Amino acid sequence: MDGAGSDRETTDNSAALAQEIKRHQKTIEQLELVNRVVERVSHAVVITDADNRILYVNPAYEKMSGFKLSHVMGKKPSISKSGRHGPEFYRKMWAALEKDRHWEGEIWDRHEDGTVFPKLMSIDRLVDEEGKTRNFVAMFYDLSQQKASEAEIERLQYYDALTQLPNRSLFRYRLQHEFEISRRQKTCVGVLLMNLDRFKQVNDFFGFPVGDQLLMEVAERLTAAVRRTDLVARQHHASERDPDVVSRTGGDDFAVILNNLKTPEDATLAALRMLDAISKPFALQAGSETLDDIFLQASIGISIFPDNAASVDALVRSAETALTWAKADGGGELRFFSERMNENSAARLRLESDLRRAVAEESFMLHYQPKLDLTTHRFTSMEALIRWPRGDTMVSPAEFIPLAEETNLIVPLGAWVLRRACMDAMSLGQQLGHVPGIAINLSARQFRQPGLIQAVRAALDESAIPPQKVELEITESMVMDDVESAIKTMQALRDLGVELAIDDFGTGYSSLSYLKRFPVNTLKLDRAFVCDLPHDVEDAAITESVIVLAKTLKLHVVAEGVETRDQMAFLRERHCAYVQGFLLARPKPLEAMPAIFCSGFT
Ligand code: C2E
Ligand code: MG
Ligand code: MG
Repeated sequence: MDGAGSDRETTDNSAALAQEIKRHQKTIEQLELVNRVVERVSHAVVITDADNRILYVNPAYEKMSGFKLSHVMGKKPSISKSGRHGPEFYRKMWAALEKDRHWEGEIWDRHEDGTVFPKLMSIDRLVDEEGKTRNFVAMFYDLSQQKASEAEIERLQYYDALTQLPNRSLFRYRLQHEFEISRRQKTCVGVLLMNLDRFKQVNDFFGFPVGDQLLMEVAERLTAAVRRTDLVARQHHASERDPDVVSRTGGDDFAVILNNLKTPEDATLAALRMLDAISKPFALQAGSETLDDIFLQASIGISIFPDNAASVDALVRSAETALTWAKADGGGELRFFSERMNENSAARLRLESDLRRAVAEESFMLHYQPKLDLTTHRFTSMEALIRWPRGDTMVSPAEFIPLAEETNLIVPLGAWVLRRACMDAMSLGQQLGHVPGIAINLSARQFRQPGLIQAVRAALDESAIPPQKVELEITESMVMDDVESAIKTMQALRDLGVELAIDDFGTGYSSLSYLKRFPVNTLKLDRAFVCDLPHDVEDAAITESVIVLAKTLKLHVVAEGVETRDQMAFLRERHCAYVQGFLLARPKPLEAMPAIFCSGFT
């Protein structure tokens, strides 16, 4: 019984032992598993004792922090403090560990090599049954990569890849912000939109790499031209994500927020500084070649809150309208938004497209107004005045010549007038038996345009008119913009054999010393001085002086706009040589000329 009992006991004991061994084995296996995991996880693990002295760090820790286990063993984790967080940060961390036994957050620590990096860390305080601290376990991973890609995503979202300027989204966001501030503080915000003139040509001519360089340089200059608190952005219309597409579709729009403006004039100053910055020559690299004389011009549209718009959208839209007008005025200009721009836009656009078609179809006419020689009482020449029939009205040249200039349609239009007028003069000459003089008006842009000489020569050649029969009329203001180059142009025209007249004389601001240098033949006294003759004492005096001046400079003088016999009598008494005006003849089609030229005027 005993033996059997002790036998059973032995069996029981060995079974318990076997079980115990099994349990230990299992524990060991588990510990090995935990060890393997902790050794291999990508998170860094730090285990400290109750005094927060390091007992263990895993290989991921060694890799991330650069500190070896042998080096940190027995030390406090604070050996890797970055110094970026103040005592308050650590106080809060310890309070959480004390109270909740857990802390979690982003923390900047120092790498063994001294660099500082962000990590996402969680710390747990492990306690025994009595609640006494046994260990701290910290786990973390490196956030640098993630931070960098977050920053990159933000940069892509809000910044232009080519110029590094804020993009349209950030511009809108900031504008909204500035708008609210200025509404509260009752200050002004300006939106300034800038477009480069002829950027497309640079792109087309030199290629996109040069265009891109130019945009980068423009971005830098603009940023330097405004205050640090202002914002310069690049405005894309095309796909904002793809810088390639952007630079190939223009992308030469820039936008500036001018905040905290005292007066709208502050915006003018900023715009002028920007135009000035752009006007200096650009040096660009085209392959191995350096292009160091690229000149640019830009147009600027400005709109001011609260003067011009009550919302962010309206503010941007009105700046766009102003920019459109600045560009239409030939570029290189700045324009403030005005209500009139909106009203005029629609009508103007219609007029412009009609004008374009009319130029293509040459659906213009020339009327002629003869000029009377007061000594012989005979008509000696006539002035060509353009007429544009549009529907059943005649559009005044005063209305469409400026538009033709803005759109550069003046070039083909002006060439047509030159040709047509010369040929008409020749055909009238055949009927009269002698070729009459023909006066042709030039517009400002036409006068400055390099093809002018060529166009005049072509008209002379084609019609075979004697050049001295042709008189080109220019105005003082056209000449005074750039006197030296104007004199060159005038001389080149004189070299072709044609004569020159100064039209609307007296209304401009030419100084007499210049007048002496101009190679002109005729002064046409403006109608404004003639219309109140002979009663207006001042006009009478001016008229007399111009006649004397012309005589002194050996120039012909023509009085324009003569409507009454009294006016004509006054002019004749003062020895004015020629007159032109409704009294003698209104501008009429060519067919009316033979009769007028043959009958004369007495
Ligand atoms: P302008 O060269 O000074 O021409 C004289 C203008 O005064 C003409 O107006 C003519 O019809 C008008 N006029 C002539 N006599 C009298 C008068 O006794 N009383 C009054 N009240 N007016 C008179 P129009 O034809 O409307 O032309 C206006 C301006 O348009 C011209 O002024 C000229 O600067 C420009 N223009 C006309 N034709 C052409 C052209 O073919 N090319 C260019 N570039 N400009 C042109
Ligand atoms: Mg004229
Ligand atoms: Mg005139």
